[in-house]
Amino acid sequence: MARVVVVGGGIAGVYFINRLLELVKDVEVVLVEPEDHHFFVLGVPMAFGGLVDFQELAFPLAALRRVGHLKFGANALSQEKDKPCIRGAREGPICGDYIVLAPGAVRLGSVNYWTLNGAQELYNKAASAKAVRFVVNTFTPVIGFQELAYAIKSRFPEKEVSVHVVYASPDYDFLLDAWTSKAREIGVEVSSDPPEWRKGELHVSVPAAKAHPLAANLEVAPTTFETDIERVYLIGDSSLIKLDLPPIGWGALWQATIAAQAV
Ligand SMILES: Cc1cc2nc3c(=O)[nH]c(=O)nc-3n(C[C@H](O)[C@H](O)[C@H](O)COP(=O)(O)OP(=O)(O)OC[C@H]3O[C@@H](n4cnc5c(N)ncnc54)[C@H](O)[C@@H]3O)c2cc1C
Repeated sequence: MARVVVVGGGIAGVYFINRLLELVKDVEVVLVEPEDHHFFVLGVPMAFGGLVDFQELAFPLAALRRVGHLKFGANALSQEKDKPCIRGAREGPICGDYIVLAPGAVRLGSVNYWTLNGAQELYNKAASAKAVRFVVNTFTPVIGFQELAYAIKSRFPEKEVSVHVVYASPDYDFLLDAWTSKAREIGVEVSSDPPEWRKGELHVSVPAAKAHPLAANLEVAPTTFETDIERVYLIGDSSLIKLDLPPIGWGALWQATIAAQAV
């Protein structure tokens, strides 16, 4: 029976597992993920808008059937007896016939709203601030701040909410152009100047994204997402960044589907 080790239980990793189990009946799947839960990041704007509780976006990994969960953060790849393996600071090697890396990206910025605690913390700060201002100054901006601005404005109509696109990669012009007039319609101001600092306001610096350290030195094939290490695949935000594609969830789902077929 083939053994597949998946690193990262975000959208890319979990969707990959789902597709793989549909396609292959006789396979052992091990998920390496430091959290107890899968966090549904795409739902964060719904929680900001009050449509769901933050806790409802966390799905316990124990509920995944036919999947073994090892709770640690992987930090190195190795090769043992011709098999690709993954190690943690104190764990490993955990080896498989295939390794699928899906650890997301590293985000550089003032807030981390990709985690349950980070998203809740940002919501609490936004709820008590006089005004909320998103500052976008990134080469690879991360999707999501637009929906958060809408959600905050619709939940707290009396609050000033603005987005300051000081710099964003031209790749995002098509998204920002379409979005700007809509944002103004619902009362979210958009400007290309940085906001002035005023007491009681919350400034959110929208994080740039860069490839995860596990993926930093890997080459990725643009059609199968196999890396230059045989039988090691890279999918999700880090893979998309390396391939010069926008790091968005839909891209992660597409990669997960192709990689499951390839494996
Ligand atoms: C507010 C918001 C709204 C968004 N809305 C949309 C949208 O509408 N449409 C869209 O397409 N995209 C959207 N996105 C982008 C989308 O959420 C990301 O592209 C997607 O989450 C990337 O999935 P991923 O699995 O690659 O990474 P992640 O979701 O970041 O998951 C990575 C997982 O790997 C784990 N991990 C990290 N390091 C290690 C390690 N060393 N070892 C083991 N595990 C590790 C993490 O704990 C995490 O569980 C939004 C993002 C945000 C923030």
